[in-house]
Amino acid sequence: MKIKKLITKKEIEKKIKNLAKQISNDYKEKDIEIICVLKGAAIFAVELSMQIKTNVRFEFIEISSYEGTESTGKIKVNKDITSSIEGKDVLIVEDIIDTGRTLSYLKEYILSKNPASLKICTLVDKRERRLVDVEVDYNGFVIEDKFIVGHGFDLDGNYRNLPYIGTIEK
Ligand code: 5GP
Repeated sequence: MKIKKLITKKEIEKKIKNLAKQISNDYKEKDIEIICVLKGAAIFAVELSMQIKTNVRFEFIEISSYEGTESTGKIKVNKDITSSIEGKDVLIVEDIIDTGRTLSYLKEYILSKNPASLKICTLVDKRERRLVDVEVDYNGFVIEDKFIVGHGFDLDGNYRNLPYIGTIEK
């Protein structure tokens, strides 16, 4: 399998710095409760948090699509957060927004736990694929409809540790 570089390590680092700067400016002295969406966003969330100037706390959630998600759009929570986020300033950190189904479900789910505020940050946005409208507050790279791997993105669980983002060449 050949992987073609799409976004370099340097470009990712620069983008993350930039996103962290915006987040630091917006939250000022407030603590941020990051909800990292496993597994894809783990690397991004860690790198992002280390560039954020205010105090960050971590929660993790793992969700997956039911069989036939394309038609039903149903999502289930495999691993839930373990602390209360009621009254907290929550930032969902996701790897990618594609159709928007995952984030739209997740947003409603998190809102039902009564945070003081809720914002969303994604590293990658496949805007042209959107089926459900979700407002993203902090957005990294907008890309075309290509399947990507690396920097957290997997193909059957593989390639997450590549330091760059690439596309699979057949
Ligand atoms: P959505 O619900 O927005 O359609 O899908 C979001 C999820 O689809 C992401 O969290 C990710 O797991 C997966 N996904 C979408 N596009 C890609 C891609 O190009 N590469 C990888 N590895 N996963 C993707």
